[in-house]
Amino acid sequence: MNEIHLCSVIRLKDQATSYQLALEERPDNAGGSNAGNRKKRAVGHFSKFWSNGRTLKIGFVSDDLPDNHKQAIISAINKWQPFVNLTFEFIDGRDGTPGYGQGDIRIHTDSTHNYTLIGTDAKGNDSWTPTMVLGIKPSNPRFESTIMHEFGHALGAEHEHQHPEANIPWDVPKVYAHYAKSGTSAEDVDEQVLNKLHISQTTYTPYDRQSIMHYPVPNDQTIGDWEIGINSRISAKDQAFMRLAYPK
Ligand SMILES: [Zn+2]
Repeated sequence: MNEIHLCSVIRLKDQATSYQLALEERPDNAGGSNAGNRKKRAVGHFSKFWSNGRTLKIGFVSDDLPDNHKQAIISAINKWQPFVNLTFEFIDGRDGTPGYGQGDIRIHTDSTHNYTLIGTDAKGNDSWTPTMVLGIKPSNPRFESTIMHEFGHALGAEHEHQHPEANIPWDVPKVYAHYAKSGTSAEDVDEQVLNKLHISQTTYTPYDRQSIMHYPVPNDQTIGDWEIGINSRISAKDQAFMRLAYPK
């Protein structure tokens, strides 16, 4: 069985700050103002989308990033471009350049991990701290899908396998055992894999097992015959989600 790609979503620990940053960026992150979507949110929950129509500066902060690697990241990120009302501006964000600290999203590649702050939570980092870590290399067959997945988080999307309607028949002890092999604690597995999100933690579109934001679900980690392979494309519902979040 393939190794599960465990991307980690990072959320600001301080919910009050996270909420304040989200609303400062875009008041309708508070919810309630999008009357067209009745089920969207409950009081006290909020989205972390960037201001609609804005330019999003995406800075590359690593010193030794080969140009072909950088271009491959840009190409994968740009797969989202047709579905959002945002302009992506890629900048040199390395220390010592004018773009240092200027990226709304700051990509660091010198790592063995992949993780991203969700949407406007990126504003909670110091301007010199990366908000998106992409350790995966272009030689990996899952490079493009991983970058698309991570950038989905940067745009404000949560994990689809944690969708409130995702009734995945996890074999919980086997899931814990699998992740324990790579040193992942049960608490982190709960946080990143098993826990369902509150219905209002995401713009509410129906559960989508084809979503790029869905982890693979190996059959040996479920009860009965249930699995999801590796989703490698932005699905129709992913497109609909982003169009809802960033309407043109
Ligand atoms: Zn993820």
